Amino acid sequence: MTHQKCSSSDCNLLGEYKAPISPDNLREYQWFCLTHIKEYNKNWNYFENMTADEIETFIENDIIGHRKTQKIGATNSNYFDKTNKIRENLFNSFTDIGNIEFGSTLMGSEYINALAELNINDKNAPLEVIKSKFKDIVKQLHPDTVGYKEENIEKLKKVLESYKIIKNHYERFKSK
Ligand SMILES: [Zn+2]
Repeated sequence: MTHQKCSSSDCNLLGEYKAPISPDNLREYQWFCLTHIKEYNKNWNYFENMTADEIETFIENDIIGHRKTQKIGATNSNYFDKTNKIRENLFNSFTDIGNIEFGSTLMGSEYINALAELNINDKNAPLEVIKSKFKDIVKQLHPDTVGYKEENIEKLKKVLESYKIIKNHYERFKSK
C-alpha cells in the first residue's frame, strides 16, 4: 500500500485512510491518519452536501434552537480579525462610487455590514459566491467542528442574519 504522510499540515503520521479531495472532485484522493480522517469526515458530513439554504434552516433549528454541545475546541480567530478590516474596505469603496446602486444609504450600509460579516469584500459578489462563503463560515464557527463557544454561537446568529439580509437584498435590487 501507500506510505505517504497524512495530508493534515503539521501531522507526521502515515496517511492510511483515503478521502476525496472535494465534493466536486470525488475521483482524486488525499490520505489521512486515523485522527485526521475522522476530523475530515465529520466536517464533510456536516455541510458539504447541504445547500446554503439547507444550512440556513439547520442553523436556525440546531444552533438558535435548543441544542448545545459541550465539546471544547479551537476557535477561528482569523475570522474575527478579518471582519472589521473588510467592513472598512467596503465602506471606502462605497464612497468612491456613491450609493446609487442601493435604495438608500441606510440600506446600503446594512448590506455592507452583512457582506463584511460573511468576509466578502466585493459588493458585487454574485449570490453563488455569497452562498459558498456562508457555508465556509458556518463550518468554521459551528460547535461540532470547532467546539462549543458562546462567542461562536453569537457569531453564527449574526452570520445567519447577515445571510438573510443579503438574500433579501438580492431579491429586491439585483434580480431582474
Ligand atoms: Zn494526521
